[in-house]
Amino acid sequence: MPQADTPPSAPVPGFAAAPDSLDPADWQALRTLGHQMLDDMVDLLAGVRDRPVWQAMPAEVRHHWRTASLPQAPGELASVYDEFQSQVAPYIAGNIHPRFLGWVQGGGNPVGMLAELLAGALDANLGGRDHAPIEVERLVIRWSAQMLGFPADASGVLVTGTSLANFIAVLVARTRALGPAVRESGLGDHQLVAYTSTEAHDCVARAVDMAGLGKQSLRLIGCDADHRMRLDLLAAAIAEDRAAGRQPFMVVGSAGTVDVGAVDDLAALSVLCRHEGLWFHIDGAFGALAMLSLAQRPLLQGLSEADSVAFDFHKWAQIPYDAGCILVRDAAIHAATFASQPAYLRREPRGLAGNHPWPTDFGPDLSRGFRALKVWMTLKTYGTDKLGEVVAHCCVLAAELARRVDAEPELERLAPVALNIVCFRLRAPADQIDALQADIVADVQESGVAVPSTTVVQGQMAIRVAFVNHRTRASDIDLLLDAVLAAGRARLKG
Ligand SMILES: *Cc1c(COP(=O)(O)O)cnc(C)c1O
Repeated sequence: MPQADTPPSAPVPGFAAAPDSLDPADWQALRTLGHQMLDDMVDLLAGVRDRPVWQAMPAEVRHHWRTASLPQAPGELASVYDEFQSQVAPYIAGNIHPRFLGWVQGGGNPVGMLAELLAGALDANLGGRDHAPIEVERLVIRWSAQMLGFPADASGVLVTGTSLANFIAVLVARTRALGPAVRESGLGDHQLVAYTSTEAHDCVARAVDMAGLGKQSLRLIGCDADHRMRLDLLAAAIAEDRAAGRQPFMVVGSAGTVDVGAVDDLAALSVLCRHEGLWFHIDGAFGALAMLSLAQRPLLQGLSEADSVAFDFHKWAQIPYDAGCILVRDAAIHAATFASQPAYLRREPRGLAGNHPWPTDFGPDLSRGFRALKVWMTLKTYGTDKLGEVVAHCCVLAAELARRVDAEPELERLAPVALNIVCFRLRAPADQIDALQADIVADVQESGVAVPSTTVVQGQMAIRVAFVNHRTRASDIDLLLDAVLAAGRARLKG
């Protein structure tokens, strides 16, 4: 790699640090290179459709990263950037691409990209204190409450993603069940029990684990044919735990399950939780923001009644990674779960240490970045109607793919389509059928044409296609299906 060997004493006109700081000796050189980077990234997004969705990293690239040594002496920024362009940018997962249809990932957006640059310049620390970035985050939380039909005084905080948001919810529900004293004394002899469905994302179990409750204190309730939690089984499990002297404290409903995109009967769960005195939390990682689409909103009825909702801006709202959110109806119990004030974080009535409560009072992080800027700029630039149209369009594409699968004799659909996810498989003899789907998915990924992923639906290996990216069009379905059928036929023949 020539760039790795550039001598540290390379002659300037490039970037060189001033003798007394990390700023450049020549700001103009930084400006020129920075403009070049911006132009290149705009070109990347503008031309993304013509790239392969994903390509495997060549061995040399992997070797490059695994052997690079710690630079003691300065390098030339222009060659560091060349290294980024040749060794990083071509080998991304590809979720910015319109035919990235694997897992459930957002596609980012150009306004969010610019916001990341602006946030980087300000280097704001959103742990707390009295500055405008804190107000931007509070506004984003207030808008989130509005989008999800929560009261305007609901509390919330931006986090890395729904995994952390679910973890926060478990801790808040624990505080509600045992009182703030649990923060001093721990769980003691209390046997708290939480409930979610067998279709829930694994991060719910991890949240219960990280909260110190042990995964065994999470009951996985069976689902109906539409992959929704069965309320009769839930009620029976709660009764059984109470009879055994355990303490049910929380139910986690799903608004968009990870495998098939099912939405639990949130209204019924909300009634049941109120009746049983349980905290009702919703994992709405991608599905909660379907509230922005008039066509999908009725499916989410009951979401606004929850005690808390975890969701991601980096999925259906297309905010660049990472941006998740926890929203809690009762701000007091939320703050009572996390707030503490060591002397060095004293709150003052005036000056920079004012303006409490601070974001750090609502989650485990102290220092935090300015995620709120990219959320605010994206919402403000596109408007929620447009983002809702993206959601609706993804669901139209999913319905269209389902129709095409149903009409294709070689294919078989494996789950109903409630939102944006279609699970299907290629028909094949029973002894090869599961391995075949995994091979097809890997073949299609390696072709660069599209990225579907796999999952297991009721014991059957499925090709899973999730429509989340705002760039995906109906013609992309043709390319995907052609690639899947070609790969499957080739495998069955060979
Ligand atoms: C993506 C997802 C999660 C995890 O969210 P992260 O942002 O990746 O932490 C949880 N639940 C569901 C339903 C998801 O789709």
